[in-house]
Amino acid sequence: MIIKPKTRGFICTTAHPEGCAANVCEQIDYVKSQPALEDPPKNVLVIGSSTGYGLASRIVPAFGGGAGTIGVFFEKPGTDRRTGSAGWYNSVAFEEEAQKAGLYAKSFNGDAFSNEMKEQVIAAIKDGPGQVDSVIYSLASPRRTDPDTGEVYRSVLKPIGQAYSQKNLNTDTGEVNEITIEPANEEEIVQTVKVMGGEDWELWLNALSDAGVLADGANTVAYSYIGPELTFPIYTNGTIGRAKVHLEESAARLNEKFGEGTAYVSVNKALVTQASSAIPVVPLYISLLYKVMKEAGNHEGCIEQIQRLFANHLAAESGPKNLDDRNRIRIDDWEMSEPIQEAVHELWELANTDNLDQISDFSGYREEFLKLFGFGLNGVDYDAETDPERPLISGD
Ligand code: NAD
Repeated sequence: MIIKPKTRGFICTTAHPEGCAANVCEQIDYVKSQPALEDPPKNVLVIGSSTGYGLASRIVPAFGGGAGTIGVFFEKPGTDRRTGSAGWYNSVAFEEEAQKAGLYAKSFNGDAFSNEMKEQVIAAIKDGPGQVDSVIYSLASPRRTDPDTGEVYRSVLKPIGQAYSQKNLNTDTGEVNEITIEPANEEEIVQTVKVMGGEDWELWLNALSDAGVLADGANTVAYSYIGPELTFPIYTNGTIGRAKVHLEESAARLNEKFGEGTAYVSVNKALVTQASSAIPVVPLYISLLYKVMKEAGNHEGCIEQIQRLFANHLAAESGPKNLDDRNRIRIDDWEMSEPIQEAVHELWELANTDNLDQISDFSGYREEFLKLFGFGLNGVDYDAETDPERPLISGD
């Protein structure tokens, strides 16, 4: 099959196996170019390990610290007629590289919210490394089935209290227009917290601990975002922001149960991922942010962000430092610095359809978006026949 990108709105329905592998290898090479981690975990469980921040969180401890990894994700394998999802091919490539490097790697494709997945992963830890000493929680999902009641909850990206009108970039057409998003009702807020809050994170940690597969002194981290005031109504003060507050409350409960310094929320930078491209308003902010940070020389992608998270915090001899007043790790510090935010704000005021290409990095945004699906990578022949069926070494 010759595989080309097929984009529809904020998704791309095809993915390229060699391109995804090249993307994973680029990230591995970056990690190998950095100093080895001081105090790396031995075995890491990454929940949501196939794309974006979770994939980077699997690569950094493995290739920067020799850690064994167990990855959990929800992806589609390819068939002879259809390409698999990018996260599937990323995971296949990760396992191949891990095997070459002699690193333990096991992957699970299925619903991380289910009791069955937790049981399977626990059984694999017992059979394999015995215990995990780090758990990274990096799920981004539009829905969750409650494992006990079977009830399905759906998350929404809406403001709370009042409607929100703001500039928005249609990433298909490159048009900047204004959108208005109506506020969520109470039920939508509750449902979003159920999906994207910390309930499932706590269920994972409790299940691992009850089964005796969580090492003494293990740590765990989940990811959050804050961003600029102009996106507060849709993010920080919106439904997803409520879920992130719940995540922080979960971290506090985990620390109470397992000891201070066990659970952290890390606030990460806004980056192009499959999850963030679905949030209204955010793609325009990211296009401007990339322009400003690239010019300032401090732009980072997922892999650079997570390298810094491990090197300076999770795998540093001293442990996590410079926590904020809510006990969060801040690797969004460069994004949130005053000069960067001021520059983005000035551009935001000016941005329109006509000047978008001059004042923003929309072309960089688009390149990055296609790269998520394995397109536009150097050294990949996109006109060549390729086999969409790629098995995972570890089965499933
Ligand atoms: P992503 O879409 O790239 O990755 C989501 C992962 O979750 C994938 O591995 C996917 O397979 C997995 N997943 C989804 N539903 C699942 C299910 N039911 N069972 C098993 N796996 C499932 O997302 P991302 O942007 O890397 O986001 C990860 C976390 O980082 C989220 O909590 C997000 O809020 C946070 N974050 C993202 C940004 C950003 O700009 N992208 C910034 C700060 C924080």
